[in-house]
Amino acid sequence: MTQTASDHGNSFSIIGAGLAGTLLAIHMARRGYQIDIHERFPDQRIEQVPSGRSINLALAARGRKALAEAMPDAALLASVDQFSIPMRGRMLHDEHGEATLQRYSQFDDEVIYSVHRDRLNACLLRATEQHDNIHMHFNQQLETVDFQARMAQFIDPRTQQHSSMYFHRLIGCDGAGSVLRQQMQQHAGLDVDAQMLDHGYLELTVPAAADGSAQLELHALHIWPRGGHMLIALPNADNTFTATLFLPHRGQPGFAELANPATMISFLQQHFPDLFPLLTQLEIDLARPVGKLGTLYCQPWHIADRALLLGDAAHAIVPFHGQGMNTAFEDISVLMQQLDDQSDDPDWHKLFSDFSQRRKPDTDAIAAMALENYQTMRDAVRDPRFHLKKQLEWALEKRFPEHFIPRYSMVMFRHIPYAKALLRGEQQQALLEQLLTAADDDLSQIDWRQAEHSVMQ
Ligand SMILES: Cc1cc2nc3c(=O)[nH]c(=O)nc-3n(C[C@H](O)[C@H](O)[C@H](O)COP(=O)(O)OP(=O)(O)OC[C@H]3O[C@@H](n4cnc5c(N)ncnc54)[C@H](O)[C@@H]3O)c2cc1C
Repeated sequence: MTQTASDHGNSFSIIGAGLAGTLLAIHMARRGYQIDIHERFPDQRIEQVPSGRSINLALAARGRKALAEAMPDAALLASVDQFSIPMRGRMLHDEHGEATLQRYSQFDDEVIYSVHRDRLNACLLRATEQHDNIHMHFNQQLETVDFQARMAQFIDPRTQQHSSMYFHRLIGCDGAGSVLRQQMQQHAGLDVDAQMLDHGYLELTVPAAADGSAQLELHALHIWPRGGHMLIALPNADNTFTATLFLPHRGQPGFAELANPATMISFLQQHFPDLFPLLTQLEIDLARPVGKLGTLYCQPWHIADRALLLGDAAHAIVPFHGQGMNTAFEDISVLMQQLDDQSDDPDWHKLFSDFSQRRKPDTDAIAAMALENYQTMRDAVRDPRFHLKKQLEWALEKRFPEHFIPRYSMVMFRHIPYAKALLRGEQQQALLEQLLTAADDDLSQIDWRQAEHSVMQ
């Protein structure tokens, strides 16, 4: 069976109606392009689809910007805000059940937002309905691509029926396991390196209390840092929380060793005593498979003017900076900005190539910062010197706002390119060390003239 797709220079076929695919479609449809989206799963507005990814996500400034730009008057962002929960900081839970809030920023408007993945995806799908030039094709799983003939083959996972489609240009938003990327690798020998983390994750549910209220502080991202492992929990709009346990796959403790539910239950009881009584759905939660995590490095992200990868398909990262989706959304902002700078008849080969080259150093930088942040979240946040440095960072930011921004803020609350944030962050770390050492770790002894001199350099 051969499908017909609108066959002219302005048509694009997007693979994947996930977070990046739907948002990209809306941005491009606004600019007048004809968009076909092919998604392997059924329409999640009608049917429950297997998620296989985190239940909720932290949405930060970069993602919010791309959502705001998608519709006039930031209407899409306003819809997302209706089910987003602001989180002001990390609520750190120690082994004795003591909880301390550590704010993300000294400024009240610098917060991150917990959003439910399925609600966000459904909201994006609903927004595509406003564009007659977006055509959805559900139950269409990409299998193979003939880039010469511009033909893509799909299978309907329910009926096993095959179909082929002529495409003009393909954009792969089909996630970390991208079939389009695999096809591009076979055809054009892309350089792909997937580095799996030796830690995995398991999601657990904290229901609301009997009266419907939240059982943990709602406006915080909760962390139970335990050195080699950790548990985190993000709030949902219905006052439930989704907790995620991050552990090594092997070792002690490790998922393999704790595979027996009874062993896992006593582990949770021992390491997370304040949370354990709230985990009342363990029978269901422990039946879920352990998720895998990894970083994907790929280069280039395109084949001529025919195919481009975007989001996780091009650069999946570990989730410890809460930036994977935000990075995917920022890809869209950057691509659209480059497109808007072109003439009416863009040179797509050049555009795809420029986009990949400009973006790659930034996605490599956030990949590095995300890996590093695992150590910060599970361990460093327990160190008093970490908090001392945070106080000094805030003091420097207050005194020299044009010149010093904490790295966490550069990543989460600003639009400074990631590679620049990484570099500035390294320089700032050295400065913090130097100032604290000279002041014998006493903030009242900080040499502010020296600080000013160093910051201005
Ligand atoms: C545990 C965990 C926690 C996370 N937390 C955060 C967070 O707090 N903040 C954050 O910003 N990011 C977070 N992320 C990362 C975030 O989930 C991803 O970066 C984001 O989902 C990427 O979006 P995407 O559209 O590129 O890919 P995906 O969301 O994976 O979407 C891919 C889509 O393509 C479809 N598809 C796949 N293969 C095919 C095919 N062959 N044919 C047709 N369709 C196909 C899929 O069904 C899906 O709809 C987290 C990830 C994990 C695993």
